[in-house]
Amino acid sequence: MVEDDRAIASALHRALEREGFSPVTVGTAADALNALPVDFVLLDLGLPDRDGVELFARLREVSPAPVIIVTARGTEEDRVAGLDLGADDYVVKPFGVRELVARMNAVLRRAGSRDAAPTDQRVGALEIDRRARTVHVDGVEIACTPKEYAIIEFLARDPGSVITRQELLDSVWGANWYGSTKMIDVHVAALRKKLGDAVVIETVRGVGFRLVDPR
Ligand code: CA
Repeated sequence: MVEDDRAIASALHRALEREGFSPVTVGTAADALNALPVDFVLLDLGLPDRDGVELFARLREVSPAPVIIVTARGTEEDRVAGLDLGADDYVVKPFGVRELVARMNAVLRRAGSRDAAPTDQRVGALEIDRRARTVHVDGVEIACTPKEYAIIEFLARDPGSVITRQELLDSVWGANWYGSTKMIDVHVAALRKKLGDAVVIETVRGVGFRLVDPR
């Protein structure tokens, strides 16, 4: 975490520790470069020794870690500039820690699944062909809407694990989409009907969903 505001830095540091991260907090661009390598960068753009945009460009050259820009500069132009730079996401102060952590997890999951998701995948009776974007159950093709396909495809990347509604929202609707997560339940209900009993999408109350192989 590159953050020169001590109050924000220490609050965020503790919150990230509670979430299971091992944060390293620095307050200058020079210390940020010295702290590498890291797995993730939270970058404040307003730094005392160097412009954060410059530091971002330098980080991209020397580090493969995903970067979320955390900044007080919140106009739409700034947001677009931040994302245009190639930041993985952009969070404007003040923000909730839970929102930030959800966004970090979504970025990590996207990064991990980009590498890990195979072209064809079987989970019990379910078969997903990512090149053709088709879903089969016991060899029979299921006619999914694009959103339904995106949901089942995302759940199938990590069968047996709970996927939160926020993660689904970020993946299927995009990280910058704001709205009720309840609509996911509507799509999942429709998907369940189409998939039948051979494929089970469990609801984990208050959290999200899990794809399980019932056989
Ligand atoms: Ca600052």
